[in-house]
Amino acid sequence: AAKAAGRNRFRAFDEGLLRCLAMRRDCERDLSRALAEGALAVWFQPIFGQAGRNVVGLEALVRWHHPVHGWIPPGDLIAAASAAGLTESLLRFILEQVCTMMLTLRERGLGDVRVAMNVSPREMAQIPVDEIVLGRLRALGLSLPMLEIEITEETALDIEATQGKLSALSQAGIRLALDDFGVGYSALASLRALRADRIKIDRSLVTGLAASDDKRGLVQAVLGLGRALGLDVVAEGVETAEDLATLEALGCRFMQGYHLGRPAPADATLRMMADLRASAA
Ligand code: C2E
Ligand code: MG
Ligand code: MG
Ligand code: MG
Repeated sequence: AAKAAGRNRFRAFDEGLLRCLAMRRDCERDLSRALAEGALAVWFQPIFGQAGRNVVGLEALVRWHHPVHGWIPPGDLIAAASAAGLTESLLRFILEQVCTMMLTLRERGLGDVRVAMNVSPREMAQIPVDEIVLGRLRALGLSLPMLEIEITEETALDIEATQGKLSALSQAGIRLALDDFGVGYSALASLRALRADRIKIDRSLVTGLAASDDKRGLVQAVLGLGRALGLDVVAEGVETAEDLATLEALGCRFMQGYHLGRPAPADATLRMMADLRASAA
């Protein structure tokens, strides 16, 4: 019986693996058409200041609903793009949506709301992200400090492949944020190498911090680090009112998370911002 169970387990694992491989293959095959047909989307999640009372930024998050496999996690999408040789096309597509959002915000007198986009280590290493981003923003007459690029410390530490691009972006006025801060292994070294403008505390340290002395201590330490280095700190993954109140008590000024606002399409995001302004006035 044990043997049979083992065999079944193996088969279940095998089928899962096959599904996964099929999904990967289908994604690589279908991505180029999805890009051309506009089947991909960029959603925006608000970043709040003043303990959740006003929107100071928007983070762009890519979304792909595959006709067979459903929602594809962004990480899998980035990997499929790389395997299909579409890394640059995908980056340009996302950048275009980000620029459209920045133009709309400016039109509505909200030019001080910063828009953040994620760039993976692979994208940063493989393609001329600096030329692409700076070229596009300049062509559209957009203010460079309105854009923030979120990278992880993996990117910051791949000095040879990324240092030149990161300093070109930062010297031109693009803001840099170190994402998922606090889960890596040499976060302090990457902060120095990078000259980041902002730290985003990983949500594994934030979610549930009201009930965890350990998490509270760690978040407090990152906030202190931010103060010492003159960096803004954003807490990601704020899922409850308790966590929000705790962050506020610790002096955290910027927050992002399901409790405050979920990622949503551009039009819904703009409506939400207009409603928030109307109710504040
Ligand atoms: P990230 O940059 O750390 O983005 C935050 C992720 O946390 C998003 O997941 C967001 O939907 C989710 N999130 C936000 N608030 C909460 C919360 O309160 N609770 C929980 N449990 N989750 C929350 P998403 O969109 O699935 O993206 C996952 C990761 O994929 C991102 O992590 C980012 O590293 C990457 N990613 C997303 N979009 C892009 C993109 O356009 N380009 C690149 N290169 N990477 C992207
Ligand atoms: Mg991010
Ligand atoms: Mg993050
Ligand atoms: Mg993350």
